[in-house]
Amino acid sequence: MQVVIYGILIPMSDIHDLTVRIGRMTKSLDHTGDPKIILLFLMEELGEVARAYLKEQGHKKSNDRVTETFREELGDVFYLILRLAAVTDTDLEKELNKTEKKLLKSQQP
Ligand SMILES: [Mg+2]
Repeated sequence: MQVVIYGILIPMSDIHDLTVRIGRMTKSLDHTGDPKIILLFLMEELGEVARAYLKEQGHKKSNDRVTETFREELGDVFYLILRLAAVTDTDLEKELNKTEKKLLKSQQP
């Protein structure tokens, strides 16, 4: 499927499929479906992304709490965003399209 945003043909991603997959995984692993808790985990993971990035870019000499790479931590964040979308019935593709339109519109004179 493709959508047209400001005359640009954009292929739809598989974000919906990913959201469904992660939602099913959350249930099968018996992980919490409480959005408040998932949001707290997401904030924790964002901190891990920042720590790993700062360490990898040489802004921190050492940090024993960093055990994964920046990219691995970004994967953790993406997983939790999908998980949060799954438990709140959020259509991330639709919301992303809205964000794209908003940003493109803000660039127009
Ligand atoms: Mg992590």
